[in-house]
Amino acid sequence: MLLYNSLSRQKDVFTTVEPGKVKMYTCGPTVYHFAHIGNLRTYIMEDVLDKYLRFIGNDVLRIMNITDVGHLTSDGDTGDDKMLKGAKREHKTVMEIAKFYTDAFFADCKKLNIKTPEVVQPATGCIAEFIDAVQKLLEKGYAYEAGGNVYFDTSKLEQYYRFLDFKEEDLEVGVREGVEGDTNKRNKADFVLWFTKSKFDDQELKWESPWGLGYPGWHIECSCISMKYAGDTLDLHCGGIDNMFPHHTNEIAQSEALIGHEWCKHWFHVHHLNDETGKMSKSKGEFLTVSLLEEKGYDPLAYRFFCLQSHYRKSLVFSWDNMKNAQTAYNKLVAKIRTLLNEKDAVDEAKKAELLKAFTDAMDNDLNTALGVTVLYDILKADTTAATKLACIAELDKVLSLDLIGHAQAAADDADAQEIPAEVLALVEQRKEARKAKDFAKADALRDEIAALGWQIRETRQGTEITKA
Ligand SMILES: [Zn+2]
Repeated sequence: MLLYNSLSRQKDVFTTVEPGKVKMYTCGPTVYHFAHIGNLRTYIMEDVLDKYLRFIGNDVLRIMNITDVGHLTSDGDTGDDKMLKGAKREHKTVMEIAKFYTDAFFADCKKLNIKTPEVVQPATGCIAEFIDAVQKLLEKGYAYEAGGNVYFDTSKLEQYYRFLDFKEEDLEVGVREGVEGDTNKRNKADFVLWFTKSKFDDQELKWESPWGLGYPGWHIECSCISMKYAGDTLDLHCGGIDNMFPHHTNEIAQSEALIGHEWCKHWFHVHHLNDETGKMSKSKGEFLTVSLLEEKGYDPLAYRFFCLQSHYRKSLVFSWDNMKNAQTAYNKLVAKIRTLLNEKDAVDEAKKAELLKAFTDAMDNDLNTALGVTVLYDILKADTTAATKLACIAELDKVLSLDLIGHAQAAADDADAQEIPAEVLALVEQRKEARKAKDFAKADALRDEIAALGWQIRETRQGTEITKA
Protein backbone atom coordinates (compact mmCIF):
# COMPACT_ATOMS: atom_id res chain seq x y z
CA MET A 1 0.00 0.00 0.00
CA LEU A 2 1.21 3.48 -0.88
CA LEU A 3 0.60 5.97 1.88
CA TYR A 4 1.68 9.59 2.04
CA ASN A 5 4.24 10.13 4.77
CA SER A 6 4.50 13.61 6.26
CA LEU A 7 8.14 12.95 7.17
CA SER A 8 9.35 12.10 3.66
CA ARG A 9 6.70 14.30 2.05
CA GLN A 10 5.91 11.64 -0.54
CA LYS A 11 3.83 8.52 -0.95
CA ASP A 12 5.88 5.70 0.59
CA VAL A 13 5.23 1.99 0.46
CA PHE A 14 3.84 1.37 3.94
CA THR A 15 5.98 -1.16 5.79
CA THR A 16 6.09 -2.32 9.39
CA VAL A 17 8.91 -3.45 11.66
CA GLU A 18 7.26 -6.85 12.07
CA PRO A 19 5.56 -7.97 8.83
CA GLY A 20 1.79 -8.14 9.13
CA LYS A 21 1.71 -6.35 12.51
CA VAL A 22 0.92 -2.66 12.65
CA LYS A 23 1.59 -0.65 15.78
CA MET A 24 -0.49 2.45 15.31
CA TYR A 25 -0.77 5.49 17.56
CA THR A 26 -3.54 8.06 17.47
CA CYS A 27 -3.44 11.35 19.37
CA GLY A 28 -6.67 11.33 21.32
CA PRO A 29 -8.99 14.14 22.34
CA THR A 30 -8.49 16.75 25.03
CA VAL A 31 -11.64 16.08 27.00
CA TYR A 32 -12.78 19.55 28.05
CA HIS A 33 -15.65 19.98 25.61
CA PHE A 34 -17.75 18.10 23.06
CA ALA A 35 -15.80 17.02 19.99
CA HIS A 36 -16.16 19.27 16.98
CA ILE A 37 -17.07 17.44 13.76
CA GLY A 38 -13.85 18.86 12.28
CA ASN A 39 -11.82 16.87 14.81
CA LEU A 40 -14.07 13.89 14.25
CA ARG A 41 -13.15 13.98 10.56
CA THR A 42 -9.62 13.06 11.65
CA TYR A 43 -10.89 10.14 13.75
CA ILE A 44 -13.11 8.93 10.89
CA MET A 45 -10.21 8.87 8.44
CA GLU A 46 -7.92 7.18 10.97
CA ASP A 47 -10.63 4.60 11.55
CA VAL A 48 -10.81 3.91 7.81
CA LEU A 49 -7.02 3.54 7.69
CA ASP A 50 -7.07 1.18 10.70
CA LYS A 51 -9.82 -0.94 9.15
CA TYR A 52 -8.22 -0.96 5.72
CA LEU A 53 -4.92 -2.17 7.15
CA ARG A 54 -6.86 -5.06 8.71
CA PHE A 55 -8.80 -5.61 5.47
CA ILE A 56 -5.55 -6.27 3.59
CA GLY A 57 -4.46 -8.78 6.21
CA ASN A 58 -2.63 -6.97 9.00
CA ASP A 59 -3.03 -7.26 12.72
CA VAL A 60 -3.38 -3.77 14.12
CA LEU A 61 -2.63 -2.66 17.65
CA ARG A 62 -4.03 0.82 17.99
CA ILE A 63 -3.25 3.04 20.94
CA MET A 64 -4.95 6.30 21.85
CA ASN A 65 -4.31 8.70 24.70
CA ILE A 66 -6.95 10.80 26.41
CA THR A 67 -5.61 14.21 27.38
CA ASP A 68 -7.07 14.98 30.78
CA VAL A 69 -4.20 17.07 32.10
CA GLY A 70 -1.58 19.49 30.82
CA HIS A 71 -3.02 20.79 27.56
CA LEU A 72 -3.01 24.57 27.41
CA THR A 73 -5.13 26.53 24.96
CA SER A 74 -2.08 27.10 22.79
CA ASP A 75 -0.41 23.94 21.55
CA GLY A 76 2.83 25.52 22.75
CA ASP A 77 3.11 26.10 26.50
CA THR A 78 1.06 29.25 26.73
CA GLY A 79 -2.54 30.22 27.32
CA ASP A 80 -5.05 28.78 29.75
CA ASP A 81 -5.33 25.20 30.90
CA LYS A 82 -8.06 23.64 28.76
CA MET A 83 -9.28 21.22 31.41
CA LEU A 84 -9.39 23.89 34.10
CA LYS A 85 -11.29 26.16 31.77
CA GLY A 86 -13.88 23.43 31.16
CA ALA A 87 -14.22 22.76 34.89
CA LYS A 88 -14.72 26.45 35.70
CA ARG A 89 -17.25 26.86 32.92
CA GLU A 90 -19.37 24.00 34.23
CA HIS A 91 -18.66 24.33 37.96
CA LYS A 92 -17.35 20.79 38.11
CA THR A 93 -14.06 19.22 39.08
CA VAL A 94 -11.48 18.53 36.40
CA MET A 95 -11.96 14.79 36.76
CA GLU A 96 -15.75 15.12 36.42
CA ILE A 97 -15.23 17.11 33.24
CA ALA A 98 -12.76 14.52 31.93
CA LYS A 99 -15.14 11.64 32.61
CA PHE A 100 -18.13 13.38 31.08
CA TYR A 101 -16.40 14.43 27.86
CA THR A 102 -14.52 11.16 27.45
CA ASP A 103 -17.87 9.35 27.51
CA ALA A 104 -19.34 11.95 25.13
CA PHE A 105 -16.42 11.47 22.75
CA PHE A 106 -16.89 7.70 22.57
CA ALA A 107 -20.66 8.11 22.21
CA ASP A 108 -20.03 10.30 19.15
CA CYS A 109 -17.51 7.77 17.83
CA LYS A 110 -20.07 5.02 18.17
CA LYS A 111 -22.63 6.99 16.16
CA LEU A 112 -20.01 7.54 13.47
CA ASN A 113 -19.05 3.84 13.45
CA ILE A 114 -15.54 4.65 14.67
CA LYS A 115 -14.07 1.61 16.37
CA THR A 116 -12.59 2.08 19.85
CA PRO A 117 -8.80 1.50 19.78
CA GLU A 118 -7.40 -1.56 21.54
CA VAL A 119 -5.71 0.70 24.09
CA VAL A 120 -7.27 3.91 25.42
CA GLN A 121 -5.08 5.52 28.06
CA PRO A 122 -5.88 8.70 30.00
CA ALA A 123 -2.77 10.78 30.65
CA THR A 124 -3.48 11.02 34.40
CA GLY A 125 -3.01 7.24 34.59
CA CYS A 126 0.64 7.41 33.52
CA ILE A 127 2.18 10.16 35.67
CA ALA A 128 4.92 7.84 36.99
CA GLU A 129 5.97 7.03 33.40
CA PHE A 130 6.12 10.75 32.53
CA ILE A 131 8.27 11.55 35.57
CA ASP A 132 10.57 8.68 34.68
CA ALA A 133 10.95 9.91 31.10
CA VAL A 134 11.64 13.50 32.18
CA GLN A 135 14.28 12.23 34.60
CA LYS A 136 15.96 10.22 31.83
CA LEU A 137 15.94 13.25 29.52
CA LEU A 138 17.63 15.29 32.26
CA GLU A 139 20.25 12.56 32.80
CA LYS A 140 20.96 12.36 29.09
CA GLY A 141 21.40 16.11 28.89
CA TYR A 142 18.37 16.78 26.68
CA ALA A 143 16.50 18.70 29.35
CA TYR A 144 17.16 21.45 31.89
CA GLU A 145 15.46 22.99 34.90
CA ALA A 146 14.68 26.67 34.87
CA GLY A 147 12.38 28.78 36.98
CA GLY A 148 10.97 25.64 38.63
CA ASN A 149 9.94 23.96 35.36
CA VAL A 150 11.72 21.30 33.31
CA TYR A 151 12.26 22.11 29.62
CA PHE A 152 13.35 20.09 26.62
CA ASP A 153 16.49 21.57 25.05
CA THR A 154 15.86 21.56 21.30
CA SER A 155 19.40 22.83 20.56
CA LYS A 156 20.74 19.39 21.55
CA LEU A 157 19.19 17.81 18.46
CA GLU A 158 20.76 17.66 15.03
CA GLN A 159 17.39 18.35 13.48
CA TYR A 160 14.45 19.57 15.50
CA TYR A 161 12.12 20.63 12.66
CA ARG A 162 11.48 17.16 11.31
CA PHE A 163 8.42 18.07 9.31
CA LEU A 164 9.92 20.26 6.66
CA ASP A 165 6.74 22.26 6.29
CA PHE A 166 7.65 24.01 9.54
CA LYS A 167 10.51 26.22 10.60
CA GLU A 168 11.44 28.53 13.45
CA GLU A 169 9.48 31.47 12.07
CA ASP A 170 6.28 29.54 12.80
CA LEU A 171 6.96 29.99 16.48
CA GLU A 172 6.26 33.67 16.09
CA VAL A 173 2.59 32.84 15.70
CA GLY A 174 2.20 32.69 19.49
CA VAL A 175 3.82 36.08 19.85
CA ARG A 176 1.52 37.60 17.29
CA GLU A 177 -1.47 36.36 19.24
CA GLY A 178 -0.27 38.48 22.14
CA VAL A 179 0.89 35.56 24.24
CA GLU A 180 3.86 36.29 26.49
CA GLY A 181 7.10 34.49 25.74
CA ASP A 182 8.57 32.26 28.46
CA THR A 183 11.87 33.82 29.56
CA ASN A 184 13.04 30.54 31.14
CA LYS A 185 13.47 28.94 27.73
CA ARG A 186 17.04 28.80 26.40
CA ASN A 187 15.87 28.39 22.83
CA LYS A 188 12.71 29.65 21.28
CA ALA A 189 11.54 26.14 20.33
CA ASP A 190 12.15 24.59 23.77
CA PHE A 191 9.04 23.22 25.46
CA VAL A 192 7.91 22.27 28.93
CA LEU A 193 8.19 18.67 30.05
CA TRP A 194 7.09 19.28 33.63
CA PHE A 195 5.50 22.34 35.21
CA THR A 196 5.89 23.20 38.87
CA LYS A 197 5.66 26.95 38.54
CA SER A 198 2.15 27.14 37.30
CA LYS A 199 0.49 30.40 36.53
CA PHE A 200 -2.70 28.64 37.62
CA ASP A 201 -2.80 28.85 41.40
CA ASP A 202 -5.93 26.76 41.45
CA GLN A 203 -4.52 23.96 39.30
CA GLU A 204 -6.44 21.01 40.71
CA LEU A 205 -4.33 18.13 39.56
CA LYS A 206 -0.76 18.10 40.86
CA TRP A 207 1.64 15.30 41.57
CA GLU A 208 4.82 14.98 43.63
CA SER A 209 7.93 14.88 41.46
CA PRO A 210 11.69 15.28 41.95
CA TRP A 211 11.18 18.93 40.88
CA GLY A 212 8.33 19.65 43.26
CA LEU A 213 4.57 19.45 43.15
CA GLY A 214 3.47 19.87 39.55
CA TYR A 215 2.00 18.42 36.39
CA PRO A 216 3.24 17.26 32.98
CA GLY A 217 3.49 19.22 29.75
CA TRP A 218 1.18 18.07 26.99
CA HIS A 219 3.61 16.46 24.54
CA ILE A 220 5.31 14.00 26.90
CA GLU A 221 2.14 11.95 27.32
CA CYS A 222 2.01 10.69 23.73
CA SER A 223 5.66 9.57 23.74
CA CYS A 224 5.28 7.73 27.04
CA ILE A 225 1.88 6.17 26.36
CA SER A 226 3.05 4.95 22.96
CA MET A 227 6.20 3.39 24.47
CA LYS A 228 4.27 1.83 27.34
CA TYR A 229 2.14 -0.24 24.97
CA ALA A 230 4.12 -0.44 21.71
CA GLY A 231 7.71 -0.51 22.94
CA ASP A 232 10.30 1.80 21.50
CA THR A 233 9.24 1.67 17.86
CA LEU A 234 5.97 2.59 16.27
CA ASP A 235 4.91 1.82 12.68
CA LEU A 236 2.37 4.53 12.16
CA HIS A 237 1.52 7.74 14.00
CA CYS A 238 -1.70 9.59 13.18
CA GLY A 239 -3.26 12.92 13.94
CA GLY A 240 -4.81 16.06 12.57
CA ILE A 241 -2.57 18.27 10.45
CA ASP A 242 -2.65 20.96 13.16
CA ASN A 243 -0.85 18.51 15.47
CA MET A 244 2.17 18.30 13.16
CA PHE A 245 3.72 21.31 14.81
CA PRO A 246 4.58 21.75 17.58
CA HIS A 247 2.95 18.63 19.08
CA HIS A 248 4.27 15.87 16.79
CA THR A 249 7.57 17.64 16.28
CA ASN A 250 8.02 17.65 20.06
CA GLU A 251 6.90 14.03 20.39
CA ILE A 252 9.65 12.98 17.95
CA ALA A 253 12.25 15.18 19.68
CA GLN A 254 11.71 13.72 23.14
CA SER A 255 11.07 10.12 21.99
CA GLU A 256 14.22 9.86 19.90
CA ALA A 257 16.26 11.61 22.61
CA LEU A 258 15.00 8.94 25.02
CA ILE A 259 15.56 5.85 22.89
CA GLY A 260 18.55 6.97 20.84
CA HIS A 261 17.19 5.79 17.48
CA GLU A 262 14.40 6.41 15.00
CA TRP A 263 11.02 6.14 16.70
CA CYS A 264 8.27 6.15 14.06
CA LYS A 265 8.81 5.90 10.31
CA HIS A 266 5.40 6.82 9.05
CA TRP A 267 3.29 9.87 9.91
CA PHE A 268 -0.30 10.21 8.72
CA HIS A 269 -2.01 13.60 8.94
CA VAL A 270 -5.61 14.42 8.14
CA HIS A 271 -6.31 17.89 6.81
CA HIS A 272 -8.79 20.44 8.12
CA LEU A 273 -12.50 20.64 7.84
CA ASN A 274 -13.23 24.24 6.91
CA ASP A 275 -16.35 26.25 6.65
CA GLU A 276 -16.86 28.50 3.67
CA THR A 277 -14.90 31.31 5.31
CA GLY A 278 -11.71 29.36 6.10
CA LYS A 279 -10.55 27.25 9.01
CA MET A 280 -13.19 26.00 11.32
CA SER A 281 -12.31 26.55 14.91
CA LYS A 282 -14.03 25.84 18.17
CA SER A 283 -13.98 29.47 19.11
CA LYS A 284 -15.62 30.88 16.00
CA GLY A 285 -19.12 30.54 14.67
CA GLU A 286 -21.57 27.71 15.19
CA PHE A 287 -20.17 24.89 17.34
CA LEU A 288 -20.68 21.84 15.17
CA THR A 289 -21.20 18.58 17.01
CA VAL A 290 -22.69 15.20 16.20
CA SER A 291 -25.68 16.13 18.38
CA LEU A 292 -26.26 19.25 16.29
CA LEU A 293 -26.22 17.13 13.11
CA GLU A 294 -28.82 14.86 14.68
CA GLU A 295 -30.93 17.77 15.88
CA LYS A 296 -31.04 19.02 12.32
CA GLY A 297 -32.24 15.61 11.16
CA TYR A 298 -29.01 14.22 9.75
CA ASP A 299 -27.76 10.69 10.22
CA PRO A 300 -24.22 10.79 11.68
CA LEU A 301 -23.30 8.16 9.10
CA ALA A 302 -24.24 10.62 6.34
CA TYR A 303 -21.52 12.85 7.81
CA ARG A 304 -19.11 9.91 7.68
CA PHE A 305 -20.15 9.41 4.06
CA PHE A 306 -19.51 13.12 3.42
CA CYS A 307 -15.97 12.77 4.83
CA LEU A 308 -15.24 9.65 2.79
CA GLN A 309 -16.21 11.38 -0.43
CA SER A 310 -13.12 13.54 -0.13
CA HIS A 311 -9.43 12.68 0.16
CA TYR A 312 -7.95 12.99 3.66
CA ARG A 313 -5.11 15.20 2.40
CA LYS A 314 -7.45 17.84 1.05
CA SER A 315 -9.22 20.31 3.23
CA LEU A 316 -12.92 19.69 3.16
CA VAL A 317 -15.50 22.46 3.11
CA PHE A 318 -18.47 21.96 5.39
CA SER A 319 -21.77 23.73 4.80
CA TRP A 320 -25.33 22.72 5.58
CA ASP A 321 -25.95 22.50 1.83
CA ASN A 322 -23.09 20.05 1.46
CA MET A 323 -24.43 18.07 4.39
CA LYS A 324 -27.88 17.94 2.83
CA ASN A 325 -26.42 16.69 -0.44
CA ALA A 326 -24.48 14.01 1.40
CA GLN A 327 -27.63 12.85 3.23
CA THR A 328 -29.57 12.71 -0.05
CA ALA A 329 -26.82 10.71 -1.76
CA TYR A 330 -26.58 8.39 1.23
CA ASN A 331 -30.34 7.78 1.21
CA LYS A 332 -30.29 7.02 -2.51
CA LEU A 333 -27.49 4.54 -2.02
CA VAL A 334 -29.43 2.80 0.75
CA ALA A 335 -32.59 2.76 -1.42
CA LYS A 336 -30.70 1.12 -4.29
CA ILE A 337 -29.26 -1.51 -1.99
CA ARG A 338 -32.72 -2.22 -0.62
CA THR A 339 -33.88 -3.36 -4.06
CA LEU A 340 -31.19 -6.06 -4.01
CA LEU A 341 -32.20 -7.59 -0.70
CA ASN A 342 -34.85 -10.08 -1.78
CA GLU A 343 -33.19 -11.41 -4.92
CA LYS A 344 -32.35 -15.05 -4.42
CA ASP A 345 -29.49 -15.50 -6.85
CA ALA A 346 -25.90 -16.70 -6.47
CA VAL A 347 -22.60 -14.90 -5.95
CA ASP A 348 -20.36 -14.75 -9.01
CA GLU A 349 -16.99 -15.15 -7.26
CA ALA A 350 -14.92 -14.05 -10.28
CA LYS A 351 -16.93 -10.88 -10.70
CA LYS A 352 -16.76 -10.24 -6.95
CA ALA A 353 -12.96 -10.48 -6.99
CA GLU A 354 -12.79 -8.10 -9.93
CA LEU A 355 -14.99 -5.49 -8.22
CA LEU A 356 -13.10 -5.78 -4.94
CA LYS A 357 -9.83 -5.28 -6.78
CA ALA A 358 -11.08 -1.91 -8.01
CA PHE A 359 -11.65 -1.01 -4.36
CA THR A 360 -8.23 -2.13 -3.12
CA ASP A 361 -6.58 -0.38 -6.08
CA ALA A 362 -8.21 2.87 -4.98
CA MET A 363 -7.39 2.42 -1.30
CA ASP A 364 -3.85 1.18 -1.93
CA ASN A 365 -3.14 4.50 -3.59
CA ASP A 366 -2.88 6.70 -0.51
CA LEU A 367 -6.22 5.70 0.99
CA ASN A 368 -8.29 7.19 -1.79
CA THR A 369 -11.70 6.89 -0.15
CA ALA A 370 -13.29 9.21 -2.71
CA LEU A 371 -12.48 6.65 -5.39
CA GLY A 372 -13.43 3.85 -2.98
CA VAL A 373 -16.91 5.37 -2.75
CA THR A 374 -17.23 5.53 -6.55
CA VAL A 375 -16.48 1.79 -6.59
CA LEU A 376 -19.68 1.41 -4.53
CA TYR A 377 -21.62 3.01 -7.37
CA ASP A 378 -19.78 0.88 -9.93
CA ILE A 379 -20.80 -2.22 -8.02
CA LEU A 380 -24.45 -1.17 -8.09
CA LYS A 381 -24.26 -0.55 -11.85
CA ALA A 382 -22.29 -3.73 -12.60
CA ASP A 383 -23.71 -6.40 -14.88
CA THR A 384 -23.94 -9.11 -12.27
CA THR A 385 -26.27 -10.77 -9.77
CA ALA A 386 -27.78 -9.01 -6.77
CA ALA A 387 -26.05 -11.49 -4.49
CA THR A 388 -22.65 -10.55 -5.99
CA LYS A 389 -23.38 -6.87 -5.48
CA LEU A 390 -24.47 -7.40 -1.90
CA ALA A 391 -21.42 -9.53 -1.14
CA CYS A 392 -19.13 -6.81 -2.52
CA ILE A 393 -20.88 -4.05 -0.62
CA ALA A 394 -20.62 -6.06 2.59
CA GLU A 395 -16.86 -6.37 2.03
CA LEU A 396 -16.36 -2.67 1.29
CA ASP A 397 -18.41 -1.72 4.29
CA LYS A 398 -15.95 -3.54 6.58
CA VAL A 399 -13.72 -0.56 5.82
CA LEU A 400 -16.12 2.25 4.97
CA SER A 401 -18.44 1.38 7.90
CA LEU A 402 -21.47 3.16 6.48
CA ASP A 403 -23.85 0.41 7.62
CA LEU A 404 -25.36 0.43 4.14
CA ILE A 405 -26.91 -3.03 4.21
CA GLY A 406 -28.08 -2.52 7.80
CA HIS A 407 -29.84 0.70 6.84
CA ALA A 408 -31.34 -0.93 3.73
CA GLN A 409 -32.57 -3.84 5.83
CA ALA A 410 -34.08 -1.47 8.40
CA ALA A 411 -35.88 0.43 5.64
CA ALA A 412 -37.23 -2.85 4.23
CA ASP A 413 -38.40 -3.95 7.70
CA ASP A 414 -40.18 -0.62 8.14
CA ALA A 415 -41.99 -1.17 4.86
CA ASP A 416 -42.90 -4.71 5.93
CA ALA A 417 -44.25 -3.36 9.17
CA GLN A 418 -46.57 -1.16 7.10
CA GLU A 419 -48.01 -4.24 5.40
CA ILE A 420 -51.55 -4.92 6.47
CA PRO A 421 -52.06 -8.12 8.50
CA ALA A 422 -54.37 -10.78 7.03
CA GLU A 423 -56.64 -10.48 10.07
CA VAL A 424 -57.30 -6.82 9.29
CA LEU A 425 -57.85 -7.54 5.59
CA ALA A 426 -60.44 -10.18 6.50
CA LEU A 427 -62.33 -7.69 8.69
CA VAL A 428 -62.21 -5.14 5.85
CA GLU A 429 -63.79 -7.70 3.51
CA GLN A 430 -66.55 -8.48 6.04
CA ARG A 431 -67.23 -4.77 6.38
CA LYS A 432 -67.56 -4.41 2.61
CA GLU A 433 -70.12 -7.24 2.62
CA ALA A 434 -72.01 -5.64 5.53
CA ARG A 435 -72.16 -2.32 3.71
CA LYS A 436 -73.37 -4.02 0.57
CA ALA A 437 -76.10 -5.65 2.64
CA LYS A 438 -76.83 -2.23 4.19
CA ASP A 439 -76.14 -3.66 7.66
CA PHE A 440 -74.58 -0.38 8.90
CA ALA A 441 -74.58 -1.40 12.57
CA LYS A 442 -72.41 -4.38 11.70
CA ALA A 443 -70.22 -2.25 9.40
CA ASP A 444 -69.60 0.21 12.24
CA ALA A 445 -68.81 -2.58 14.69
CA LEU A 446 -66.32 -4.03 12.21
CA ARG A 447 -64.70 -0.60 11.77
CA ASP A 448 -64.27 -0.39 15.56
CA GLU A 449 -62.75 -3.86 15.59
CA ILE A 450 -60.29 -2.82 12.88
CA ALA A 451 -59.44 0.34 14.82
CA ALA A 452 -58.77 -1.75 17.92
CA LEU A 453 -56.11 -3.59 15.89
CA GLY A 454 -54.43 -0.25 15.13
CA TRP A 455 -55.74 0.36 11.61
CA GLN A 456 -57.97 2.98 10.13
CA ILE A 457 -60.22 2.64 7.11
CA ARG A 458 -61.68 5.24 4.89
CA GLU A 459 -64.03 4.72 1.97
CA THR A 460 -63.02 6.89 -0.94
CA ARG A 461 -64.06 7.04 -4.57
CA GLN A 462 -61.01 4.91 -5.40
CA GLY A 463 -62.06 2.25 -2.91
CA THR A 464 -61.18 1.47 0.68
CA GLU A 465 -58.04 3.09 2.07
CA ILE A 466 -56.34 1.34 4.96
CA THR A 467 -53.70 3.12 6.98
CA LYS A 468 -52.02 2.70 10.34
CA ALA A 469 -53.91 4.59 13.02
ZN1 LIG B 1 -0.09 13.24 20.59
